[in-house]
Amino acid sequence: MRIYFLGTGTSQGIPIIGSDHPVCKSIDSKDVRLRVSVLIRWETYSYVIDCGPDFRQQMLASNCKKVDGILFTHEHSDHTAGIDDIRPFNFKQGEIPVYAHQRVIDNLKKRFDYVFETVNKYPGAPSVKTIEIVNNEPFAIGNKMAIPINVMHGNLPVFGFRIDDFAYLTDVKTVEAVEIEKLKGVKVLVVNALREEHHFSHFNLEEALDFIALIQPEKAYLTHISHLLGFHEEVQKKLPKNVYLAFDNLEITI
Ligand SMILES: [Zn+2]
Repeated sequence: MRIYFLGTGTSQGIPIIGSDHPVCKSIDSKDVRLRVSVLIRWETYSYVIDCGPDFRQQMLASNCKKVDGILFTHEHSDHTAGIDDIRPFNFKQGEIPVYAHQRVIDNLKKRFDYVFETVNKYPGAPSVKTIEIVNNEPFAIGNKMAIPINVMHGNLPVFGFRIDDFAYLTDVKTVEAVEIEKLKGVKVLVVNALREEHHFSHFNLEEALDFIALIQPEKAYLTHISHLLGFHEEVQKKLPKNVYLAFDNLEITI
């Protein structure tokens, strides 16, 4: 299984429009972060987690030619706003399966009503097949099973996913013990770390490192990063041995 980090930035991306912050002006390509998403590929299968506003650019950068499905963590725009750009895949493949909590599906139907139109739908509009994710009910993606992990983003429930020994959690602030159980034995864990300072709905760096220490994966990658965390190179030096700052276009094999 190959995991391609399509985007590793927080909701505004890095650089932030109009910002004079040194990280936003960095010439290190690892300090440029699109909105958070990963592409998971194995055998002939190819799935993405989330579909944010940078989706088009990300599909071009990763040379992704096929999407077998989109798994949504939650409805916030930095995770969903790219849905219009699935059209090139629709034209080649037809309807794209979209896996999400019913609340997220309802939200998408409101915000992207034209996608779900049943009468006089514009022929060029995106086309999806929605599949509801229910917590504690693993679901099939290709020939693998995805296990939903119900975590809290402030007071909003968000899904993380475990696929074999890989787990991807973003926009997490708190996780109940029963959900932590589902992460036991993962070899590679991706988890969000916004910045050093506290945030009401995201792990800061310290909380992310504590969480990694609790799960004890072989390797952990941090994502959903704010410019306020600092320069990639400097932050990486401060991290424990098995913890890495993810960066855009990084690909790992599990
Ligand atoms: Zn987010």
